[in-house]
Amino acid sequence: MDDIIIVGGGIGGLTLGLALHAAALPCRIFESAAEIRPVGVGINLLPHATRELATLGLEPALARVAIETSDATFFNRFGQLIYQEPLGRAAGYAQPQFSIHRGDLQMALLDAFRARAGNNRLVTNHHCIGVEQDASGVSVHFSDGPGGANRSTVRGHAAIACDGINSAIRKQHFPNEGEPRYSGINMWRGVTRWKPMLSGASMVRAGWMSHGKMVIYPIRPTGPDGLQLINWVAEIETPVYRKRDWNRPGAIDDFIGAFAGWHFDWLDVPAFIRAADSVLEFPMVDQDPLPRWSFDRVTLLGDAAHPMVPRGSNGAGQAILDARALTSALLDTGEPIAALAAYEKQRLEATTRIVLTNRTNPPDAILREVFERTRDRPFGAIADVISHEELVALSEGYKRIAGYSRDALRG
Ligand SMILES: Cc1cc2nc3c(=O)[nH]c(=O)nc-3n(C[C@H](O)[C@H](O)[C@H](O)COP(=O)(O)OP(=O)(O)OC[C@H]3O[C@@H](n4cnc5c(N)ncnc54)[C@H](O)[C@@H]3O)c2cc1C
Repeated sequence: MDDIIIVGGGIGGLTLGLALHAAALPCRIFESAAEIRPVGVGINLLPHATRELATLGLEPALARVAIETSDATFFNRFGQLIYQEPLGRAAGYAQPQFSIHRGDLQMALLDAFRARAGNNRLVTNHHCIGVEQDASGVSVHFSDGPGGANRSTVRGHAAIACDGINSAIRKQHFPNEGEPRYSGINMWRGVTRWKPMLSGASMVRAGWMSHGKMVIYPIRPTGPDGLQLINWVAEIETPVYRKRDWNRPGAIDDFIGAFAGWHFDWLDVPAFIRAADSVLEFPMVDQDPLPRWSFDRVTLLGDAAHPMVPRGSNGAGQAILDARALTSALLDTGEPIAALAAYEKQRLEATTRIVLTNRTNPPDAILREVFERTRDRPFGAIADVISHEELVALSEGYKRIAGYSRDALRG
């Protein structure tokens, strides 16, 4: 009854569980899936998020399975270098940037939560279908999996919706919101085992979305065969919208034409795509920011609160920052209603700015600027197209908005 009920055992829910447990605030996690399996492909954790995970004692476990990313490198579709900058510790941060398989991150969080809080504190096969509250607590209603016939109700102190972009609790509180908003960009994502490219820890962005953009970065350390698991995302303007499903298979022939001529000295992109283990397809979507998240003893966190298009490597990171802010608010106030209101006050406006900036000026705005100024032609010297100062300003501007400028993290 005194438990805080966490709905959803994804990145946000598990981080919140770990943070609450560390603060001696009892909680239980209820996850819809029958079993938590390592699904997804690559995710980036920027220094603001790795700082929080280090506070929870997770840096060594993550460092074992992740790549410590050293640089961001931008090319046009002709393979010409536009801009390169160091990242994480290489850029002078006290914290690393990690590029990691989402499944490895989720498993590291899950193992830590089970070891510290106990196995019985995480329950699977519980799909939230709604929540009610009264003066003394919340009643969270579940079915046994999506569409399951068996019902159960759990009482708790407060309920935190960490149930992702299709959140049932968000829908309950905003019934007229509608489906996620399609950005006009379709994404095909995959992983390929390949020899290390560039620095072996580079995050590459190349091309532009009207003709085809690629994001490429390694997510696991080099294996004994000398190969790395390398995550890639092809992003192409596509008018058709199909409902998002994290696990829908994609077909290489639907998009590889956009990259047919991409034979660079550091990577043969068509051969690299064709060598993929598997390909997933999903539309790039988000939702308009909400006016509020907290309703007395119920609030939203992570993608349930602020789904954002993945152009700034901040989806997982902002869920992790939410978890820290909510835990601190609960500790500071000692009671849930004021804590959930304080959490919303601290995080809603900050994440609203990120959601909106991800639509217009995330880091890949560098690629758009060069694409437009060159009218998609090869350039002679990059300095004739865009100054170094402008490139730095584009990159640093996003870091300030997303809360991971060096100055912000020094504080
Ligand atoms: C299967 C899957 C694969 C993903 N793959 C990628 C990827 O490859 N790259 C990337 O950048 N991002 C991926 N994401 C999204 C990424 O994890 C999130 O954007 C980010 O980490 C924010 O985390 P979150 O905890 O808010 O949401 P999520 O990580 O999406 O977690 C939500 C959790 O809630 C559970 N859930 C959903 N509905 C209910 C319900 N009604 N009741 C109880 N539990 C529920 C889900 O099963 C999931 O475990 C993926 C998400 C999922 C669920």
